[in-house]
Parts: sequence; structure tokens; C-alpha cells
Amino acid sequence: MAETPTTSAPAARPAPAKRPKPVAWIDPHGCSGEPCQVCIAFCPVDCIRLVTNDPEFAGPTGYCVVEQEKCIGCNLCAMYCPWDDIVMVQPPALAATPVRG
Ligand code: SF4
Ligand code: SF4
Repeated sequence: MAETPTTSAPAARPAPAKRPKPVAWIDPHGCSGEPCQVCIAFCPVDCIRLVTNDPEFAGPTGYCVVEQEKCIGCNLCAMYCPWDDIVMVQPPALAATPVRG
């Protein structure tokens, strides 16, 4: 006997939980700063800048900082940093990210 075709739509599945995309974070203590700037050269959205006037951090060559609200998470800076000083982090974890001394 043939099956009777059903006309009712399948139950809607709940939307999958979406995690925020990881963004780049630079450890200021490990960054070579001004003489390097490799990460700045590779960033496709220009969201990394060099900081040289931070009174809390007396390094002579400064360090780089990611404007994380603009970061698209492409990972290029982390791939090309010669000192492996860039990590990709989940935005909510930023406040708890330890800084190496
Ligand atoms: S590539 Fe790495 S070491 Fe060089 S400026 Fe960027 S974060 Fe600093
Ligand atoms: S992950 Fe990509 S977009 Fe984000 S700071 Fe690095 S190079 Fe720029």
C-alpha cells in the first residue's frame, strides 16, 4: 500500500549557538614594536597600531595593539609574527587573559 504524502512542514530546528569569532591579541611584553611591524603590514583591515607613548610600559621601541572591534579574525598577523607574540582569543575571555611578565 502506498504511503500517504504528508503536507505538514517539519518542526523548526533551534538555531545553532554561535560563538563569537576569535580576534587577535598581542602581548606588549613580547612585541618588538617599531623595528618590526610585520603584523601591521599584513593586516588586511588596518586594525593594528603601534603604541610608543605608553607611560605604563617603558619599552624603548613600543608595542603593537589590535583594535579588536575591527579585527576580522583572519589570523594573518599571528601567522607572520616572527616572535609568536600574537594569539587568537575569544572576545569574552579578554579580561581574563594573562599578560606575561
Ligand atoms: S609582528 Fe609580532 S613582534 Fe612584530 S610588531 Fe607585530 S606583534 Fe610585535
Ligand atoms: S587577525 Fe587579521 S584582521 Fe585581525 S588583527 Fe590580525 S591580521 Fe588584522
